[in-house]
Amino acid sequence: MIIHLKGDLAPEKIATLATAHEAIHFRSEDRDILVLSSKITSVPTALAPYVDQSFVMSSDIQLASKDYQSYKRNIKIRQDVLGGNTNHTMMMAGPCSIESWEQISQTAELLKSLNIKTLRAGCFKPRTSPYTFQGMGEEGLKMLVKVRETYGLNIITEVKDSSHVDLVIDHADIVQIGTKAMYDQSILRKCGKSTKPVLLKRGFGTTLQEFVQAAEFILSGGNPNVMLCERGIRTFENKTRFTLDLTGVAYLKEFTNLPVVVDPSHAMGYRYGIPDLTRAAVAMGIDGLLIETHPTPELAKSDAAQQLNFDEFTKMFHSLKPVAEAVGQKLI
Ligand code: PEP
Ligand code: MN
Repeated sequence: MIIHLKGDLAPEKIATLATAHEAIHFRSEDRDILVLSSKITSVPTALAPYVDQSFVMSSDIQLASKDYQSYKRNIKIRQDVLGGNTNHTMMMAGPCSIESWEQISQTAELLKSLNIKTLRAGCFKPRTSPYTFQGMGEEGLKMLVKVRETYGLNIITEVKDSSHVDLVIDHADIVQIGTKAMYDQSILRKCGKSTKPVLLKRGFGTTLQEFVQAAEFILSGGNPNVMLCERGIRTFENKTRFTLDLTGVAYLKEFTNLPVVVDPSHAMGYRYGIPDLTRAAVAMGIDGLLIETHPTPELAKSDAAQQLNFDEFTKMFHSLKPVAEAVGQKLI
């Protein structure tokens, strides 16, 4: 149950009410909000005098639910906005990992030439093997800041564990929480204490309910700027790296108020299918895309098989415009 409290309550009173009702308290848009378990289906009598508005929720997908807020949230990313009623599909593209200034500046120039505003690149890489490239770490993050200063691009980069979450929040324009980090509550809670936009990826073995509940940790910390990213789930199929769950995307669009992003690169795992999957995702009227591209994919230090070269990326990008327009969206 979500409760909007009356506006004139002292902070000590709110804290007492929250403790007494095992509720989470946060402030949003100058309003104090309590979130109680969804098992509570009527306003507790002791709380009633302090309630301005209450919302009975049918599961612990609460703040993210359209039953609470029927309109899609919008998220401001520096000068750009996605979600809400913008009809924007934001392309976020770049290499899996930042590897050098040369590599990242070439990528930034490609994006600028296509009028793309947002660059992705990982610095802290959550690799499956400890014997592979683990990312440039803080040095990479500093390089990304320089890319933003030089090219004016928004920067999205991922956080792997809680040791560097503050650093990433301070430097990135969007914090990416990856498929393996989705369950890390210290990351989720720290992101909840910030207002920095967060792209939360679905764990590859996670149900939609669990996925959106992970987003609830961030939302109930007081950060409304969360977008959900479908990046492929693990099924019995092993010809492709993962299975892109576009049926799940339909669910998220229908029942949640959060912008939805699709990452076909990690789902497919091989460059051949990515343009088709990307067009399919854009045809669903999504809010954003996360795509890997690299100047020399065969030399990439991570995810080499799935990164598009610049020609492949450019060709695909041009093919997306009419698809986006056909569903009333504008690629930015
Ligand atoms: C990535 O975006 O490079 C990445 C590691 O993604 P995921 O967490 O989806 O595997
Ligand atoms: Mn990758």
